[in-house]
Amino acid sequence: MSDYKYSIEAKNVNKIFYKKSKEIKALINFDIQIKKGSIHGLLGPNGAGKSTFINVLGGLVKKNTGKVSICGIDIDKNAKKSKFKIGIVPQELNIDPFFSPAELLELQAGLYGIPKQKRKTDEILYNLKLSDQRNAYARTLSGGMRRRLLIAKALVHSPEMLILDEPTAGVDIDIRSSVWNYIRKINKLGTTICLTTHYLEEAENLCDTISIINFGKKIKEDTKENLLNIISNKTVSFVINNDFSIPEDLKEFNPIKNESKLTIQYDKNKTNLKKIINILNRDKIDFKEINTFESDLEDVFLKLTKNNDLSN
Ligand code: ADP
Ligand code: MG
Repeated sequence: MSDYKYSIEAKNVNKIFYKKSKEIKALINFDIQIKKGSIHGLLGPNGAGKSTFINVLGGLVKKNTGKVSICGIDIDKNAKKSKFKIGIVPQELNIDPFFSPAELLELQAGLYGIPKQKRKTDEILYNLKLSDQRNAYARTLSGGMRRRLLIAKALVHSPEMLILDEPTAGVDIDIRSSVWNYIRKINKLGTTICLTTHYLEEAENLCDTISIINFGKKIKEDTKENLLNIISNKTVSFVINNDFSIPEDLKEFNPIKNESKLTIQYDKNKTNLKKIINILNRDKIDFKEINTFESDLEDVFLKLTKNNDLSN
């Protein structure tokens, strides 16, 4: 295995599609670095440019400008070698219905020129819990099995990096978690992962690092923890029974008093709700109702994408 720090490195990638003489800027000065060994999430709403970027990586879409390397190999200088480094699981569950899983994997191995004795068809089917379906017609497979078969297909040539485009789009919740488990397992065995998703829960569950893309532009790239910390602020509101004035030591929490309602924002990394309640109790501020608002990646996402609505 060659030595490189980033499994994917892209700089200044632009892609314009032309549709009925209209320009669609699918990628605008797009940069990204995905560390070897990580699980990276490429997040963005529908139409953001995620699949376009993946198709650039896979050689299906020609970028207009920019430099992209996969596992240290420039895709323009060595297209074939760079393609061998990655396996791509496409967004659509397109599987030829008349082949069995074993046949599909053998076919794929053939496409990659892997000699018969070096093929790992049964091992891969086993790892993806498809041994029982080895010889079944693909058309009889459930959605979850199809998704796993597509992952299996992408792993045939033992790529150093696996790219999954919306791996659980349209997949039932219970199957979703089993797909997540496979992704984690493959990653633990040393494969770098990049997945696109518009499910924030998926990114929150799986990813080490995340980049957020909107209207073809990357608007943020950071560790999941740092992104969640952007909104480490929690909001709590109390409905107060008695007349009250805001305690001095709550003033740092941007308290807002609105008739009987007191709303407070605090940094969950620095303080906790109990401290705030203790202050209220101490000052004999009696409340009958308490509501907390938990932030998650969804809030980060909204916060980050809101300012970009007019950018295109
Ligand atoms: P995502 O995967 O984030 O949902 P896509 O990369 O599929 O987004 O699409 C980005 C933009 O590029 C969209 O506006 C889409 O309509 C457009 N687009 C994608 N592929 C093509 C194509 N082959 N021809 C014309 N427009 C395209
Ligand atoms: Mg897509």
